[in-house]
Amino acid sequence: MSNVQNKSKIKIAIVGNPNSGKSTVFNALTGLNQKIANFPGVTVEKRIGFFNLENESGQKISAEIIDLPGCYSLYPKSIDERIPFQVLCDPDDESYPDFVIVIADASNLKRSLFLCSQIIDLKIPALLALNMMDLAERKGLGIDSGKLSEKLGVPVIPMNALKKQGIAELKKSLLHSFSPPEKDFTDVQKYSPGITEEIKNIIHVSSDYAAFQVANNFEWISAFHLTPEKTGKLKKIISDRNFDSDAIKAKETLERYGVITVLIKEVVHEKGIMQGTHVRSKKIDSILTHRVFGYVIFLVILFLVFQSIFAWAAYPMDLVDRFFAWSKQMVAAAMPQGLLNDLVVNGIIAGLNGVVIFVPQIALLFAFIAVLEDTGYMSRVSFMMDKLLRGFGLNGKSVIPLISGVACAVPAIMSARTIQNRKERIITIMVTPLMSCSARLPVYTLLISLIIPAGYFYGVNVQGLVLFGMYLIGFIAAIAAAWLMKFIIRVKEKSYFIMELPLYRLPRFSNIGMMIIEKVKVFLFDAGKVIMAISIVLWLLSSNAPGNKFETIEKKYNTASQNSGINHDEIIYKIKSEKLESSYAGILGQWIEPAIKPMGFDWKIGIALITSFAAREVFVGTMSTIYSAGDKGTRSTVREKMQSEINPETLKPRYDFATGFSLMLFYAFAMQCMSTLAVVKREMRGWKWPLIQFAYMGALAYVASLTAYQLLK
Ligand code: GDP
Repeated sequence: MSNVQNKSKIKIAIVGNPNSGKSTVFNALTGLNQKIANFPGVTVEKRIGFFNLENESGQKISAEIIDLPGCYSLYPKSIDERIPFQVLCDPDDESYPDFVIVIADASNLKRSLFLCSQIIDLKIPALLALNMMDLAERKGLGIDSGKLSEKLGVPVIPMNALKKQGIAELKKSLLHSFSPPEKDFTDVQKYSPGITEEIKNIIHVSSDYAAFQVANNFEWISAFHLTPEKTGKLKKIISDRNFDSDAIKAKETLERYGVITVLIKEVVHEKGIMQGTHVRSKKIDSILTHRVFGYVIFLVILFLVFQSIFAWAAYPMDLVDRFFAWSKQMVAAAMPQGLLNDLVVNGIIAGLNGVVIFVPQIALLFAFIAVLEDTGYMSRVSFMMDKLLRGFGLNGKSVIPLISGVACAVPAIMSARTIQNRKERIITIMVTPLMSCSARLPVYTLLISLIIPAGYFYGVNVQGLVLFGMYLIGFIAAIAAAWLMKFIIRVKEKSYFIMELPLYRLPRFSNIGMMIIEKVKVFLFDAGKVIMAISIVLWLLSSNAPGNKFETIEKKYNTASQNSGINHDEIIYKIKSEKLESSYAGILGQWIEPAIKPMGFDWKIGIALITSFAAREVFVGTMSTIYSAGDKGTRSTVREKMQSEINPETLKPRYDFATGFSLMLFYAFAMQCMSTLAVVKREMRGWKWPLIQFAYMGALAYVASLTAYQLLK
């Protein structure tokens, strides 16, 4: 038995089911002493914290503790869940602990003990923190923790982490209990005799059970520093023995639950009373998850959320715009005229403006989602929607990515990580960008104001109705695409849905604050970086031209103005627009014109399409630069400039209903967002899926716009 008393440093890992209170225990132990990193090779967050223990002779032992992603078993269903397997089975992993704290939800003991029994079989020194004792109590459950400890062969500490009850005992226990558990919950030899020995001859694992799990998880394994040679050997063992992982897993699961059921009968006594919160939660559930009202209530909540977002975000967005307009003026005036001035003002500040402008909407939407999640309502929605969404190849947990997609696809796609089934996760990620994100809003607003007359229809604002229609089109496209992909994408994996329904509670502001900060950060740093970079590239393309074209244009107008005395402002605008036409961006636009003409677009729109492939909202800015042309120096808006644009072929307004609608459809469907592609690449670990996404959305956009224009013109 090794004793922690004579160590000066120990490594601890926390594992447990999602929502068992791991983070709460972690925070209670470490306070602010934490840092966040990534697990190597995956984008799963790794939280590490530090605290001190004091042994009997008063010496300090420094403990490093790592919060492993929540999981239900050592059979990983999602990328997050692979981490605990990897860390705990591979003694050479950099995070391999000296000690494991298994957190169990005492009010849901059966499921918690499943994972716990697997960890015990790994033979790493462990203790069980029996958290949420208060909830168990309220449920009327009495748990004999002494007996449980005796049966499990590891210390058991009853806790209420929220109130920090049991933390001191836990720390104390860490000092004393340091021997590997002796009890076996399952005898792996009977599933495939001798296989563990053979595996242990090839790789270094923590125990027989770990070796057995290697055989089970062999398909995706990336731990153990596997060389191709070792992989080959493992593969041979597994195929020689016809190791049928699915069947064995099923057997093991049944057996474990059998043992656990007996155990629970011995240590848990039902007092038969349901108290306060539970009764209340049940009552609320009977309304909120009602077969009919449940859906109606959800739709009403969604409607109210979106109404509030648009109503409330308008003010801060206006402030952001004004702030950047002011900064542009200040900087432009303060810096000497020239290229650098232009780059800073029209490249960098304009780019920043384009990023920050979305923060209010994103923050508000995620504030609402956080409230819905924190109160426990979101779990019910996922639960209710599961059956429905499953018909479309999605999953109850796709609800959050899909709704978040209305703010920004980047954090939305990241939130698809909680979907365990790979196929459903892929489909969710593939279709989320079809939801109308905030970046499409300025494009829609501008185009709708051009093609739909303002007015009311039975008391409903018509332009608003069309805008709503665009959101609906996005949603329908997402659902339809998901349904198609259900038949096309082949991933061998069973689908299932485990989600616990937490008790309803009042939202906590700290949680909501954290969520907002986290999502805004992801947006600013992930999407923001790309938008900024593209904004600068765009500036370069539009402020440079081959040869000395720009000088020729300037010379032409200089002589013209001297000769004719035309208004100075008008000359400046004319120069600007001609320069754009002959710039690299203009050349590109003209180059793609033949391809986009059947959709009703000309080369000017072509420029906007190209620039918007980086980020959609760039459309408005580009349009305003392009249409400086007809401007007589008066301060007309982009809208007015576009409205007065005439199609030279038809001599009618360029932005008639057909072109405008075709353009909106294009923006609804095309994958015009580099940041999203980058995030999909990161989440799917490769270019295959983002490329497929780019192609299918592009094709959809092209066909939709083409059809719409040809039918409507
Ligand atoms: P994790 O997903 O395992 O990290 O779980 P969290 O630490 O985020 O906890 C899940 C929820 O349970 C949070 O709302 C916590 O505030 C709450 N919680 C944690 N420990 C306790 C406890 O002992 N009693 C009660 N009533 N709630 C708890």
